[in-house]
Amino acid sequence: MTEYQARPGLFIAGSWRYGEGRDAEDILDPRTGRGQAAVPHATDADLDEALAAAQRGFDLWRKTAPEQRAAVLQRTAAILRERADPLARLITLEEGKPFTEAKGEIAGGAAILEFHAGEAMRIYGRVLPRPAGRRSMVLHQPVGPVAAFCAWNFPVLNVVRKLSPAIASGCSIIIKPSEEVAGCASEVIRCFEEAGVPGDVVQCVFGVPDAVSRKLLASPVTRKLSFTGSVPVGKHLMKLAADTMMRTTMELGGHGPVLVFDDCDLEKTLDTLVAHKFRNAGQVCVSPTRFHVQRGIYDRFAAGFAERTRHVVVGDGLDPATQMGPLANPRRPGAIEAMVADATRAGARLLAGGGRMEGTGFFFQPTVLADVPLSARVMNEEPFGPLALLTPFDDFDDAVAEANRLPFGLAAYCFTENGRRQNMLADALESGMIAINDVRVSAPDAPFGGVRDSGHGSEDGPEGIAAHMITKAVHIA
Ligand code: NAD
Repeated sequence: MTEYQARPGLFIAGSWRYGEGRDAEDILDPRTGRGQAAVPHATDADLDEALAAAQRGFDLWRKTAPEQRAAVLQRTAAILRERADPLARLITLEEGKPFTEAKGEIAGGAAILEFHAGEAMRIYGRVLPRPAGRRSMVLHQPVGPVAAFCAWNFPVLNVVRKLSPAIASGCSIIIKPSEEVAGCASEVIRCFEEAGVPGDVVQCVFGVPDAVSRKLLASPVTRKLSFTGSVPVGKHLMKLAADTMMRTTMELGGHGPVLVFDDCDLEKTLDTLVAHKFRNAGQVCVSPTRFHVQRGIYDRFAAGFAERTRHVVVGDGLDPATQMGPLANPRRPGAIEAMVADATRAGARLLAGGGRMEGTGFFFQPTVLADVPLSARVMNEEPFGPLALLTPFDDFDDAVAEANRLPFGLAAYCFTENGRRQNMLADALESGMIAINDVRVSAPDAPFGGVRDSGHGSEDGPEGIAAHMITKAVHIA
C-alpha cells in the first residue's frame, strides 16, 4: 500500500481539474527518487479561465465585510491544525523534511492565518485636518488579482503566506506553487475551500513555470506579482511585471551571515546554530550560511561545530530518530557536491561530511568547511543545502564588512552578550531581518523580507497587508 495520500490538481473557478488529457509530471519521493503521483499542467484555456475567475473573484471579494474574510481565515487555520498529522506526513513524502519539523511548519502556517484574520479587521485609512465643510481622506483598497509563485522548500507555509494576506485584504489570487510539492499545495487549497472561500477568489494552477508566469503576468487582469524563489528568477519576473507596472513583493534568496563574537555563550551558541543550520537540510532562504567567528574562539568554535555536525542523524523523515532528511530534489545534491569540490580546491578544509550518501534518494551529508577563501563560489552564491562555511574575523569592522560584502540582505545572525555592540550591529547590517542571540527571524506579526538582491516588500505583519493595498487620496469640497 502506498503511503502517499493526496490528489494534486488544478483548482479553477471553484472546481478541481485533474489529468483529462493534460500534460503531467511526476512528483518524486526524495527518499527514493521514485515517482509517487502525477501533477497536471494547466492548458492555455485553463489559465484563461483562471484569469477570468480571478477578475470575478476580486469584484466579489473586495466588497465583502472584513468579518467574513477573517472568518474564512480562522476556519482555514482550524482545519490546518486538525489535519496537521496527515499534512506533515505529506510534506515529508514530497519535500523530505522530518515529520516533526513539518508539523512545526503547519503550526506556523496556522498562526499566520490567525494573525491575518485579525489584520483583516484593522485596515484603517485616515481623515486629514481640514476647515469645516471640507474633507480629505486617505483610503486603502485591495490592489486587485494577485499572481503568486512560490518555491518547494516550505510546501504548506509558502502557499499559506501567499494566500492569507491576499484574502485578508480583499484581493483574489492565482497561485502557482512548485510542481514538485503539488500534493501539499492542493491539500492546502482544499482547506481554504472547505473553510468557505468563494470559488473564484482562489485559483491554483501548475505547469511549466516560465510559460505560466509569462501568461499570468502579461494579462491586464493581474495587478500584483508575489514571488518566493531564487534571485535570477525573481529578477526575470520583475522585468515581466514592469510591462504592466504591477505591484511586486519579491522574497528571494540570501546568504545568511552569522557573526560570533568572543563574549558569546559558546556552547549554547553552537547547540543553537548547528540545529538551525541543518533545519530542512539547509534549504531555507534565511538559513545561516557564512559563520564568521572572532579569531580568539575560532578553533574551539570549528571543533565544536564539526563534532556536533557528525552527530546529526540523517535519514527517512518519517523515522522519529531522524534530524535531517534528504534534499528535496535531484538538482540539489549535484549542486552542493560541485560547491564543496570548488571550495576544497580553493583551499577550504573539510571538517565534516562533504559528499552524497550511499543508497537511493537525494541524501547529502551535513557538511562543514573551514577557512573558506572568499574567492570560492560558495562564499558568493547561495548554497541552499546542508553546508556550513566557517571563517575567522578580527574586529567589529571586519565582521560587519564581511557580512555586508555580498549583494544579498535577507537574514543576519549575531551572537554577543555586549548590549552596545548589539545596537551597533542592528544599525550596521544591511539585512531585512536580524536575530541577536537567537535564530528566529519569522513571526506572524513581524515583517518577513529582504533588501538589495534578496528582494523587497514584506510578508507577514501589517506590512504584508499593506503590500496588497493601493492608497487613494480623496478631497471633497
Ligand atoms: P529555481 O530558481 O529553478 O526554482 C525556484 C522556484 O521558482 C521553483 O519552485 C520554481 O517552480 C519557480 N520558478 C522557476 N522559474 C520560474 C519562472 N520562470 N516563473 C515562475 N516561477 C518559476 O531553483 P531550484 O533549483 O528549484 O532551487 C534552487 C534555488 O532556488 C536556490 O539557489 C535558492 O536560491 C532558490 N530558492 C529560494 C527559496 C526561497 O525561499 N527564497 C526557496 C526555494 C529555492
